[in-house]
Amino acid sequence: MNEFELIRNYFASQPVTRGDTLVGIGDDAAVIQPPPGMDTVVTTDVLAANVHFFESIDPTALGHKSLAVNLSDLAAMGAVPAWFLLDLTLPEADADWLQAFAGGLFGLAQRYDVQLIGGDTARGPLSVAITAIGLVPEGKCMRRRGAQPGDVIYVTGALGDAALTLAALRGERTLATDDLAVIRDRMDRPTPRVAEGIALRRQASSAIDISDGLTADLGHILQASGVGARLNLGALPLSAAYRKYLPQIGWDYALAGGDDYELCVTVPPGRVNSVDKLADASGFSMAAVGEITAGRTLEIYDALGRLYEPQRKGFEHFAQM
Ligand code: ADP
Ligand code: MG
Repeated sequence: MNEFELIRNYFASQPVTRGDTLVGIGDDAAVIQPPPGMDTVVTTDVLAANVHFFESIDPTALGHKSLAVNLSDLAAMGAVPAWFLLDLTLPEADADWLQAFAGGLFGLAQRYDVQLIGGDTARGPLSVAITAIGLVPEGKCMRRRGAQPGDVIYVTGALGDAALTLAALRGERTLATDDLAVIRDRMDRPTPRVAEGIALRRQASSAIDISDGLTADLGHILQASGVGARLNLGALPLSAAYRKYLPQIGWDYALAGGDDYELCVTVPPGRVNSVDKLADASGFSMAAVGEITAGRTLEIYDALGRLYEPQRKGFEHFAQM
């Protein structure tokens, strides 16, 4: 199969379902028409083999995850996902692999009515770069800046499962097979918190998605907002599987592990009630994990009120070894 057959067979075969897509795949560029009164939100993320995933990864999971990490960034801005572009480099054109990859990718795309409108395909070491485009009412996107002292810090879902999975796969931790099977999905097929992001847009003073660990990503909010924070270790949301191993593994996967793709938002005290109601009514899992302070530092306290010092830092690609 040549480059054009590959594109036609696996990526151009999706029908154009959005009326605001004037020109989709097949021309030199796509043409989209954002509705009046909306801002266009654009983000991109690359996933490279042996850096972000093992080359042996299930291609369905890779297709899902490469779009999910981008939708997570749109969610953090409070945007509704609309379109995406796909840049693929592949060592070979394997039909079964491509079929599975496209299955994972379009499965997630259809769930959010997000349309593939173009991309590029080349031979090379396996890597997937996606650019996602979303819409948000003019001037209404969430930002990393905006957190104020007294705001309550919320986290969606549960933290640390992806980092714990990675540690188990590397042989650094031993988990029961059943437990690993449950949390492995959290590494391979993260759920972007799109509905949460859109709903929180009117309530939150700042937001970020947690891709490099809570302390690192909350740190970006603190820096952008010029504030500090106090986190309560005992309030961090953990899965049942993580909690089971907590005595051996401690809190650091949840505090500083990467790849969670949960949202971290700050909410002014006057809106905390309505956020709690919103979470109840919408079935969002949201935990209040601390509060914003006027000091410029991030302090973490354990259940006995003692200051806690994490042993791990958030993930950084170019960190000094
Ligand atoms: P050009 O050479 O003008 O960049 P290409 O031959 O690379 O165009 O691509 C032809 C069409 O196929 C374009 O519309 C492009 O956006 C689309 N395309 C190429 N690769 C992909 C891909 N991996 N996924 C989706 N669309 C793609
Ligand atoms: Mg090209």
